[in-house]
Amino acid sequence: MSAVEQGIAPRTIEVLDHGFVRLDDAMASDLSVVNAARVSFARRKEEMDDSDAGLIRFLMRERHGTPFEHNAFRFHVRTPLFVAREWFRHRIGSYNEFSMRYAKATDEFYVPALEDVRTQVGKPGSYSFEPVSDEVAQATREELAAVYAAAYAAYERLVEAGVARELARAVMPVGAYTEFYWTVNARALMNFVSLRAAETAQREIRHYADAVELLFAEWMPVTYEAFVVAGRVGP
Ligand SMILES: Cc1cc2nc3c(=O)[nH]c(=O)nc-3n(C[C@H](O)[C@H](O)[C@H](O)COP(=O)(O)OP(=O)(O)OC[C@H]3O[C@@H](n4cnc5c(N)ncnc54)[C@H](O)[C@@H]3O)c2cc1C
Repeated sequence: MSAVEQGIAPRTIEVLDHGFVRLDDAMASDLSVVNAARVSFARRKEEMDDSDAGLIRFLMRERHGTPFEHNAFRFHVRTPLFVAREWFRHRIGSYNEFSMRYAKATDEFYVPALEDVRTQVGKPGSYSFEPVSDEVAQATREELAAVYAAAYAAYERLVEAGVARELARAVMPVGAYTEFYWTVNARALMNFVSLRAAETAQREIRHYADAVELLFAEWMPVTYEAFVVAGRVGP
């Protein structure tokens, strides 16, 4: 079912200082899970009922994952490069990204809010992230802004001097924003949310995963509820 047929308006959720998650379109419903599973018995339904919700919970619990693959969410996403790099590790899905070979680099960079500047305590694998003083937080923001300005000025000088964009981009910091399309099915999406909306994930990608989760829950509410009941582990 399309967005219009489902009565759900595709929408944009703003994330970080210049980013967003926009659901460009989706072909997704709880019914698609049920019908994919029931084709084993040559059965098909036009509407969900309680037994279908039970079937979805069963499939989730028993990790029968393939019925959750017959749908697609197409997201348009804007993130800092370091978030995109984490995101692209999720191989089950399709990506197309803004190219700094062909287009001029963006001059928008991620500067964390004061409360998002943190220190890490502990050891690899079990860090906790604690607030820093306002002075350190403000100094961090200023250091980042200064580096971004210097890097972008160098980028513009190089391009102006005739250096190819594909090479000039080497000066761009990983805090620069990029954009991409991500098309993914519910099974891989749940795996993404499971890993990236978790406490152990980096705070910045968590905000994006939270937005993806919200949009997913709107489209496939029964599947989403079953996912939560199953401990937020995908099938
Ligand atoms: C908190 C956190 C810390 C991380 N730290 C690091 C790090 O330090 N270094 C690093 O390199 N990565 C790191 N990662 C990335 C991580 O290793 C995964 O690459 C990423 O989370 C994608 O997960 P995935 O493979 O399950 O997703 P997808 O690639 O979307 O795959 C989905 C599922 O498909 C199956 N699958 C996909 N490809 C294969 C395959 N080739 N063989 C078998 N099954 C497959 C698996 O069941 C997989 O779970 C980290 C991730 C998290 C969440």
